[in-house]
Amino acid sequence: MPNFQFTDWLISCWCDPAASAEQAAILRGRQFHAVVRQLPLSSIGNTISALVLASVFWGQLDSWVLAGWTLLVSAIALGNAGLWWARRAVLPSSPVSVRAVRLLVAGIAASALAFASMSGYLYSAADGDGRLLLTAVLAAFIGMGSWMYSCLPLASILWSCILCAGLAVLFSSRPEAVYTYLMGLLAFYALVVWSTTLLTSRMFLNGLKFEAEIERQNQLVGLLLHDFEEHASDWLWETDRQGCLRHVSQRLAQAMGVSPAGLQGQHLVQRMAALSPHMVPAHAAMFRALEKCLAQQQPFRGMVVPARVAGQLQWWSLTAKPLRDSAGLWQGWRGVGSDVTAARQRELEMARLAHIDTLTGLANRYQFGKRLADYFAPAQPAGPCTLLLLDLDNFKTVNDSLGHAVGDQLLQTVALRLQSVVDPLALLARLGGDEFAVLVPGVLERPEAERLGTQLQAALAQPWLADGHRIAVQASIGVGFAPADADTAEQLLKVCDMALYAAKAAGRYRLRFFEPALALRAQQHLALLSDLGLALQRGEFVLHYQPQVDLASGALLGFEALVRWQHPLRGLVSPLDFIAVAEESGLIVPLGAWVLRQACVDAAGWPAHLRVAVNVSALQLGHADVLAVVDSALQHSGLPSPRLELEITESTLMHDSQAVLEVLHALRDKGVRVALDDFGTGYSSLAYLRSFPLDKLKIDRSFVSILDRADGDTSAAAIVQTIVQLAQALHLDTTAEGVETAAQFTLLRRMGCAQAQGYWIAQPMDAAQTRRFMTGWSAKLLLSL
Ligand code: C2E
Ligand code: CA
Ligand code: CA
Repeated sequence: MPNFQFTDWLISCWCDPAASAEQAAILRGRQFHAVVRQLPLSSIGNTISALVLASVFWGQLDSWVLAGWTLLVSAIALGNAGLWWARRAVLPSSPVSVRAVRLLVAGIAASALAFASMSGYLYSAADGDGRLLLTAVLAAFIGMGSWMYSCLPLASILWSCILCAGLAVLFSSRPEAVYTYLMGLLAFYALVVWSTTLLTSRMFLNGLKFEAEIERQNQLVGLLLHDFEEHASDWLWETDRQGCLRHVSQRLAQAMGVSPAGLQGQHLVQRMAALSPHMVPAHAAMFRALEKCLAQQQPFRGMVVPARVAGQLQWWSLTAKPLRDSAGLWQGWRGVGSDVTAARQRELEMARLAHIDTLTGLANRYQFGKRLADYFAPAQPAGPCTLLLLDLDNFKTVNDSLGHAVGDQLLQTVALRLQSVVDPLALLARLGGDEFAVLVPGVLERPEAERLGTQLQAALAQPWLADGHRIAVQASIGVGFAPADADTAEQLLKVCDMALYAAKAAGRYRLRFFEPALALRAQQHLALLSDLGLALQRGEFVLHYQPQVDLASGALLGFEALVRWQHPLRGLVSPLDFIAVAEESGLIVPLGAWVLRQACVDAAGWPAHLRVAVNVSALQLGHADVLAVVDSALQHSGLPSPRLELEITESTLMHDSQAVLEVLHALRDKGVRVALDDFGTGYSSLAYLRSFPLDKLKIDRSFVSILDRADGDTSAAAIVQTIVQLAQALHLDTTAEGVETAAQFTLLRRMGCAQAQGYWIAQPMDAAQTRRFMTGWSAKLLLSL
């Protein structure tokens, strides 16, 4: 139990000890006002009582005294009433000084004294009835006054003390026993009256303190709300149970672009929905969600709805609590609204960015994956679809030789051109790098799919100018159908990948449909990868040699070494089937080292004027100990370095130009020759040809093979002629690759090309056949053909 201090309690009936001087003055003002309010009534009561008593005792006592006393009581009453009159317009909460309270108490005490003393005077002359009357009047005065002045305990207690004391004096002047009892009762009543006064006063004070606190809070909330309405972008709203707006704030009206009066009583949701007359279903669903929240009478937050104000689409977020009355009954809603347009736009933009490829603006891999997955979702199968996977055949060359900026431009152009062909209902996506996908919904027959593929290829085939280069983009395409080829999204992607791989393997600019045989081939590809490592250890690789001859004299100049894999089950495997895989896996480095060593050993046994050409991959040339490998091969075989020629491709030059340049110079210093293979298929610039130490250009087979075509395409001839002249200007040798006919041979000779290599001269042969070929070689026979 808390430590109860009577004095503390007593003081708390009087005033608030914790209050500041200012608050105390206000509390005093309230007490003062509560008493002053009663003064007219008590004054009238006092005056009437005085008149009644004077008239009852008129004639029995000195009339002057009676009249004077009555006048005195009336004067005091008039004074008190005057005080009330003076204070009537003053606010109850106005502060009051201690002095004013003392004056009021003095006035009340004076009335009590006047009555008490007059009663004593009347009592002396009163008979039994008169005494009863006086006792009753005084008792009533004690009760009424104490009650009336109870808000100001000093006044109330002084009033009752004086009257009780007066009564006690009267009772004590009577000898009858009944007055002794009355004295006892009086003392008891007095105690009860004082206690009640104190309790009432304390309750009144507590009530005042509570009111003051509420008032303070109201002021604070009012200030905060005012500040909120003034400065925040948010607005307050309040509705009744029907959802109709009440107390429309200026800011809400501003947000909606109308006057507050125009909104008063309007249905909030309907009014907001009316701002966007032609709503898309997703927006309508947001309003339905909001209405559902409102119907549930539960607090909600962050309900976002669209609003079109002055033609601009905005997004508003609503948060609200149900309004309840003191009985807990639901009365409506009160909440805050805020403009979240900027945040919403950021959100939408992020979502959009997550779904698009920023370079081309097409759908990205993520969006593509989601759409593709939708087709196979068990809940809502989207029916059949066709997938075309596109891969640009020469993108890597463009990127390596002309730089990433041109590469990016190329991809953007490709995206635009593909878009011009693809149906709006189909999804065109860039899956990454130079890989694109077209997902066509619905059934697409093979001929239609083929037509679409051809259109896509044709759109890309138009040459394109970048940085002064004419770039022809070609695409290989793999096609798969669902559900015919696949019943999951992953499977469809996989079969299209296989078809694409097959299209690329079959040469550039192809379109392939998936077929089960491809799956088998893909499996073989995987098996190949694991077999390849073992093959080198088991010594399963062999070298074949293809002769290179002088076009003018027909003399045999040397051989190109071409590797093959003698597979225990598959037989002789072409390098086209495993070089790319060896490059991917890095196995090309040890494999290339073996080829170099073996070719040098073989060549060392040939007549001394014959050279050997060895193909070297970019990865090998970039490898740290490429020079050591060449040295070791030459030393091991005893082959003089001028008899070794290394064939590199144009993309090798672009790889890490500075490092490659250093390696090539070092090779040149050793006396090793360098040939540029497949010349004409890349984008090497003249500057490159000048800056790299080269000995030979090998004109790519693709130009040679169309030289003698019947359709009279003269551009190939023009290109070959240009390459030959270019080579001559740069003092480079030229070897035409893939010479298959006598016509090609003759044409090349006429053009001034130095050397030739091809099936028409000889197919690549194993080491033993090569030796026989050398001995049987007759230049004259070749030229006479
Ligand atoms: P490449 O360096 O352009 O070699 C020439 C390819 O053309 C050889 O194919 C050859 O058999 C073929 N060929 C020669 N004359 C004719 C012709 O008249 N008509 C036709 N259609 N083709 C002809 P192969 O041996 O299959 O080699 C393919 C490619 O594999 C080579 O192309 C080369 O890039 C790569 N390769 C071969 N051996 C090696 C090697 O030891 N190391 C590296 N890194 N690559 C190699
Ligand atoms: Ca070659
Ligand atoms: Ca070649």
